[in-house]
Amino acid sequence: MTLADQYSSDGCAISFELFPPKTAEGINSLCENVERLMQFNPKYFTCTYGAGGSSQRTTLDVLERVKKLTKLPVASHLTCVGSNTDQLCEYLQRATDIGVDYIVALRGDPPKGSTEFSVTDGGLRYANELVDLIRAKFGDLGIAVAGYPEVHQEAVDAKTDLENLKRKVDAGADIVITQLFYDNADFYRFRDDCVAAGINVPIIPGVLPVTNFKQAQRIAGMCKAAIPASLEAEMTRDDAPEHQFRVGVEHARKQTIDLLENGVPGIHYYVLNKSDAAVELLDGLQLAGQP
Ligand SMILES: Cc1cc2nc3c(=O)[nH]c(=O)nc-3n(C[C@H](O)[C@H](O)[C@H](O)COP(=O)(O)OP(=O)(O)OC[C@H]3O[C@@H](n4cnc5c(N)ncnc54)[C@H](O)[C@@H]3O)c2cc1C
Repeated sequence: MTLADQYSSDGCAISFELFPPKTAEGINSLCENVERLMQFNPKYFTCTYGAGGSSQRTTLDVLERVKKLTKLPVASHLTCVGSNTDQLCEYLQRATDIGVDYIVALRGDPPKGSTEFSVTDGGLRYANELVDLIRAKFGDLGIAVAGYPEVHQEAVDAKTDLENLKRKVDAGADIVITQLFYDNADFYRFRDDCVAAGINVPIIPGVLPVTNFKQAQRIAGMCKAAIPASLEAEMTRDDAPEHQFRVGVEHARKQTIDLLENGVPGIHYYVLNKSDAAVELLDGLQLAGQP
């Protein structure tokens, strides 16, 4: 099934994002959690991609395992960091060879220690160029690109950021998956702006169930996702891990229910290789493919 078709039927199609674990135990625990997440009938799983050889290999190793385990489509994230176009094509070929169905095509963040993204010799500067490359050489792969409800941190302004998003869609992206956000109003504003700008592909909100306040702060700093004052006040009211977990999961559940009521075609969950939070937040909700 094509990536866009995953969102063409009634109901909300969900997907889960994983990252490459560093250890063998990490892979085993990831597989157990993937099996638990299958109860929600996800449409596909994705795995993130980091700069540096070993984690790139692991992205494909993880996806090969997950595909075998679930028989579902899988998506590899891919960034332009540290690779020239030949190396990007080699990766795309390996991905195709092991049965990867979709690519989340990204520019990537500046590597640790640098504040600015720099182009690799013979490489690409922006994600729209990666979409061009995939469309030209690996036309069968579905393509997702990243969108930013709270505006990308390096963007000149919101309007320019949206024009750049449209460039990626015009290059052939099938869907947009958004950066995580904690206030759905940011997503609805972004979705309306996308429609007004002529971006006519499914816009899939990205939701992260935060499970402790320190993590929420770290992620908010990295992704420029503002933590609402009410969530901060409720989370910091008590240091107990169970309290913070419950508040974070309850917030993500409320976000999910509101998104479902507002007719989103799908939701992408940043589950960070875990399943406890997702199992609690999705329990009993009406999603696509659920009886
Ligand atoms: C769903 C999702 C998944 C992610 N997965 C990963 C991952 O696996 N690994 C990882 O390292 N990072 C990942 N990221 C983070 C991402 O790499 C960073 O946010 C990165 O800083 C920007 O990537 P991009 O693809 O959005 O870049 P781009 O779309 O290239 O945009 C980067 C900046 O340049 C501007 N811009 C874009 N195109 C042009 C143009 N043609 N001319 C001028 N300006 C332009 C944009 O407005 C923006 O400010 C993910 C983000 C999301 C939302």
